[in-house]
Amino acid sequence: MNGNLTIINAASLVCISDRNRPRAGKAQGELDIIRGGAVAIREGEIVSVGTTAEILKKYGDDTELLDATGKTVLPGLVECHSHPIFAGNRHWEYVRRLEGASGKDIRAEGGGIWSTIVNTRKASDEELISNTVRAFNQIAAGGVTTLEVKSGYGLDKEGELRLLRLLKEAAQQTPMDIVVTFLGAHIAPQDGRSTAEFVESVKKEMLPAVAEQGIAESQDLSCENGDFSASQAKELIEISSSFGLPVHVHADASSDSRGWRTAVEGHALSADHLTYTPDEEIFSVGATDTVAVLLPVAEQFYLDERKANGRLFIRNNVPVAVATDYCSSFQATSLPLTIAAACSWFKFTPAEAIVGATLNAAYALGKNRDRGSLDVGKRGDITIFNCEHPNQLGTAIGAPIVDKSISRGNIIWESMNKI
Ligand SMILES: [Zn+2]
Repeated sequence: MNGNLTIINAASLVCISDRNRPRAGKAQGELDIIRGGAVAIREGEIVSVGTTAEILKKYGDDTELLDATGKTVLPGLVECHSHPIFAGNRHWEYVRRLEGASGKDIRAEGGGIWSTIVNTRKASDEELISNTVRAFNQIAAGGVTTLEVKSGYGLDKEGELRLLRLLKEAAQQTPMDIVVTFLGAHIAPQDGRSTAEFVESVKKEMLPAVAEQGIAESQDLSCENGDFSASQAKELIEISSSFGLPVHVHADASSDSRGWRTAVEGHALSADHLTYTPDEEIFSVGATDTVAVLLPVAEQFYLDERKANGRLFIRNNVPVAVATDYCSSFQATSLPLTIAAACSWFKFTPAEAIVGATLNAAYALGKNRDRGSLDVGKRGDITIFNCEHPNQLGTAIGAPIVDKSISRGNIIWESMNKI
């Protein structure tokens, strides 16, 4: 585990070179592939990228060589939207949805996010850590090297700070790099507090404590009719910057809520879901560096009436990322499957979806400086796939296609499947 590794003979070395901004428009579909490529990592950092002949000439065989003949080598996958810390399971709600029940029906039957909050508050620390580490292990099997995780099932100061602390503890039990996000304004409280009171409590109690304890790297919030209005979201975004916390916005997940515009005007790192964002809003907001994080698996399993207009975001020069949305409703763990789903669901090319799970996902987390692409100076984070061309990530649907993942030059996960 010294962080020194040279990978050679890759059928496709997919560089996705960082051009100092997230990839949008035509560039979203460009992968910068080197055939027969190689990458040298020293002390955890990428020091050279090129053809195998060039790299062997420069670096010889002074360190461990990993032969990637017949394989596709990608920057380490970045999963930029997950909610892994909770107790209880809501599988019965899916059955009710399939039977035609609405979200309102399910809440009346005792389900919905609030039921997860009640169960999570009752659970022991040990149970929550164990649930979270199990999620980490399953997500790591999809080749993820960086994973963003949100709190959000505490919904009061004590509960949220507890979940953030437990996420930090669980992070010690995985070799993936864990990026922790504070999600206070997740849904409107259902225990008698008004949303206005709750927003005040996020602003005056939770955010100051999160910032003081330094236990989260950003704030997430919902801009959604029935939860938090665009003006409440704006207030939370503005105060977040005074604490030095960049922002993510759950936007337009269930209805047109002006979430996309609010996120972009607030210079959010990302706006996520965007299922109901109207085409006119995408047109009028235009190009931006706020990353649109789309969740194709979540949209399919929520049985939404519509889908995010992924192609229109790309056409309007908006950088797009894709993510699983692992949460208490659906435990989608596979980022490769999500890449495949993004292709059929949004009509993305595999290249566009791959950029969305690497470089653009790194930008969505504010982690672009040291990961998301195979560029000299970035972390030696790599995911190796059992296929010759990256297009096969779009066609090998559900296959155990991940061969290895590598973090800072060290192998952190390896498949037992020899395919
Ligand atoms: Zn979410």
